[in-house]
Amino acid sequence: MKTLRDIRPRLTVADFSACLPFTRLLFAIAVVAALSALGAPNGLAERHDRPVPILMYHVISAAPAGVAYPELFVRPNDFAGQMDWLAAHGYHAVTLRQVYDYWLKGSPLPQHAIVISFDDGYLSQATVAMPVLRKLHWPGDLNLKVNAVQKYNLPSWRVHALIAAGWEIDAHTITHPDLTTVDDARLWQEVHGSRVDLRRMFHVPVAFFCYPSGRYDAHVVDAVRRAGYLAATTTHYGLARPSAPYELNRVRINASDGVPGLAHKLEALAP
Ligand SMILES: [Zn+2]
Repeated sequence: MKTLRDIRPRLTVADFSACLPFTRLLFAIAVVAALSALGAPNGLAERHDRPVPILMYHVISAAPAGVAYPELFVRPNDFAGQMDWLAAHGYHAVTLRQVYDYWLKGSPLPQHAIVISFDDGYLSQATVAMPVLRKLHWPGDLNLKVNAVQKYNLPSWRVHALIAAGWEIDAHTITHPDLTTVDDARLWQEVHGSRVDLRRMFHVPVAFFCYPSGRYDAHVVDAVRRAGYLAATTTHYGLARPSAPYELNRVRINASDGVPGLAHKLEALAP
C-alpha cells in the first residue's frame, strides 16, 4: 500500500540544483513571496498594525469621602463629557475583538478607533456608563470578575443588558487575586475557570483576559494563552499594539482627569 510519502511529489536539493538558473530564480522569488506572506498576515498592500488606545475605567460615580482609592472613581458628568469629547474629535468606540480582527485579519476599523474598558464589574458601569455609550451607539468592554456577579454587585441580568447593548465581556478571574503569587491549581482555576464560568453564564466567547491589578509574569501569560485567550490587557500605560497581544497597554482615566486630562493623555500618546 502506498503511503502519503510515496505519492507526494518531492523536491530535493538535488532536484533544485538541477533546475536551470532562471527556473531557480523564479522558484526563489516564489519562496520569498510565500514566506513574506506568512510572516506578514496583514498583507503586503496595506499594514493593519495601527496602535489603538484602550481607556481603563473603574467606578463611574463620585468618590465617597474617605474611600481608599478615590482616583478609581470618575464622576458621571466627567464620563459623559469625556465621551462627548471623543465623539467630537472623531473617535469611534469599538470592542477589543474588532481591534484584534483588524490586527490579525485586516478587518476594517474606524480611523480613530478606541476601546472603552471597564474593570471588575460595578453597578455604575451598567447604570451610568452604558446609557451614555448607548446614545453614541458605542460598545464598552467589561473586564468582569466572576465574583462581582455571584455576589450581586452587578447582577447577571445587568450583564445580559450590557451584552444586548453590544458590550464585550472579557475575563478578569473569579476572585481578583495577584496571579503572580498563587499556585498552579489556583492560577488555572482563576484564568481558565473564569472563562468557563462566564461562557456558561452569558453564552459569549470571552476571548480576552485582563490581569487583576495588572499583575502578571511569563508563567501567568502562559496560563492565559493555554486557556485559549487571544490577547490580554495590562495596566501599563500607553497605546495597545499588535506586537504584544498578551501585554496590551491601556490608558488609565483617573478621577482628577476630567475632560482636559483625557484630551491631554490622548493627544500626548497620538502616534
Ligand atoms: Zn480589577
